[in-house]
Amino acid sequence: MKIKTFDGNDIELSQDTIERLKQQIRGQVLIPDETGYEESRTLWNGMIDRKPSIIVRCLGSADVIACMQFIREHKLLVCIKGGGHNIAGLAAADGAIMLDMSLMRGIVVDPVRKIAHTQAGCLLSDVDRETQLYGLAAVLGFVSATGVTGLTLGGGFGYLTRRWGWTSDNVSGMNVVTADARIVRASRDENEDLFWGLRGGGGNFGIVTGIDYNLFPVGPEIIGGIVAWDAKDAPDVLELFRKLAEQAPPELTLVALMRPAPPAPWLPKEMHGKPIVALLACYSGDPDIGVKVVEPIKAFGNRVGDILVRRPYTQLQSLLDATNPNGRRYYWKSEYLPRIEPALCEKIIAHAATIPSPHSAIILFQVEGALNHVGQEHSPVGNRDAHFVLNIPGSWENAVDDQKNIKWVREAWDDMKSFSTGGNYINFQTEDEGRDRMIASLGKDLQQLARVKTKWDPQNIFRMNRNIIPAL
Ligand SMILES: Cc1cc2nc3c(=O)[nH]c(=O)nc-3n(C[C@H](O)[C@H](O)[C@H](O)COP(=O)(O)OP(=O)(O)OC[C@H]3O[C@@H](n4cnc5c(N)ncnc54)[C@H](O)[C@@H]3O)c2cc1C
Repeated sequence: MKIKTFDGNDIELSQDTIERLKQQIRGQVLIPDETGYEESRTLWNGMIDRKPSIIVRCLGSADVIACMQFIREHKLLVCIKGGGHNIAGLAAADGAIMLDMSLMRGIVVDPVRKIAHTQAGCLLSDVDRETQLYGLAAVLGFVSATGVTGLTLGGGFGYLTRRWGWTSDNVSGMNVVTADARIVRASRDENEDLFWGLRGGGGNFGIVTGIDYNLFPVGPEIIGGIVAWDAKDAPDVLELFRKLAEQAPPELTLVALMRPAPPAPWLPKEMHGKPIVALLACYSGDPDIGVKVVEPIKAFGNRVGDILVRRPYTQLQSLLDATNPNGRRYYWKSEYLPRIEPALCEKIIAHAATIPSPHSAIILFQVEGALNHVGQEHSPVGNRDAHFVLNIPGSWENAVDDQKNIKWVREAWDDMKSFSTGGNYINFQTEDEGRDRMIASLGKDLQQLARVKTKWDPQNIFRMNRNIIPAL
């Protein structure tokens, strides 16, 4: 079989060689046409269609080490799949060997030390499910099918970020298989440089097989959900968002969005497909207090739908899943914002009025809080001046509509990017975003990241990512 090497060549691997790999692996080794290959190579973003030559579905760190030995022996191009949710499709590469971590979804919660020991293939929902048994939660993202490892290596934010910072700020250690096929621990006490690099520098330094998350008391019930209004009320609703966000206690996280109304049962049928403005809220503290905190939202104007209620935290964590299904075509742009300016709201309203697809949106996530109180030197995720994330997620069904949808996202972004801090979320970068966007995201830490890369992966074996070139 033909397979690519990391130095840019194509080589042949014999059937015997693949059989030998199979003998080393407890999980599955798949080649095209074998059962499970298609499912494994498929990513969340339907725009990406790549065919690795071999897929190894690892079952533990020993499988990962065996793969690394094989990769080194044949100099193979490797890509790593966690939850497969990266918009740029970083998890799959044509002709590569893919390490698919999705069978490694074990979790052990230590409720006394408030730590979750997770395997690298966990999805957000896996971690929430186990930690909530103890009324604890890790700082994770908004859509439950996202992979924890990709999210964490790029930073990570969600409903709990205002209280405790980026996801990667709340990791106490990681287990990593290195480019020279050793397993090492990365933490404050061991391999501190590696630990620093992994918290924002992505999958550049090794293959993470496990992450330990600090946990916090949350739930099991919180106040959370969405209130929606007709888009004609957007000027007032976005002004409400702006004001509430300024005064919000850390337990309250607000998200504003504009989009065509999805066909959700909580929205009246006659609104489906019509433009709406909505506020998504989570009060993660005492629900009895939260009920009062969200009153100004529930009492505002003529709501067309309201599911902002007391509910299990795990339920809120999957509330946005249905609007982000696997396999649709997606193209996003994002910026970090220092504040919400009225002029930005005007632009959001104008661009939301021209959305060409029933699935696209413009979203403002509030993240201001704990992350701003940590020094820039803490870890390369940086962007300690971010108070909001602007995301323009384009989402549509058919390839014939690619051009008009991408054009809409790009025009809206061009018109709004002047409101940015200058930074953007590395995990929201699309395939066509280049080194300038990486520099904007990782800032002056790039030089130190290159030094860490040189130490841990001098041959740049881990290059199917937002790649940091070794400083040779
Ligand atoms: C619908 C949706 C909602 C999202 N919501 C949020 C959100 O609320 N908050 C947020 O912060 N982000 C969010 N994201 C962005 C998300 O953080 C990134 O897409 C992230 O890359 C997803 O991780 P994954 O493991 O699913 O990715 P994959 O596509 O599987 O992997 C992406 C890359 O991560 C690296 N990687 C993955 N696993 C490993 C490993 N074990 N070892 C080394 N490197 C590895 C590799 O470079 C890989 O190519 C969302 C994305 C989507 C699609």
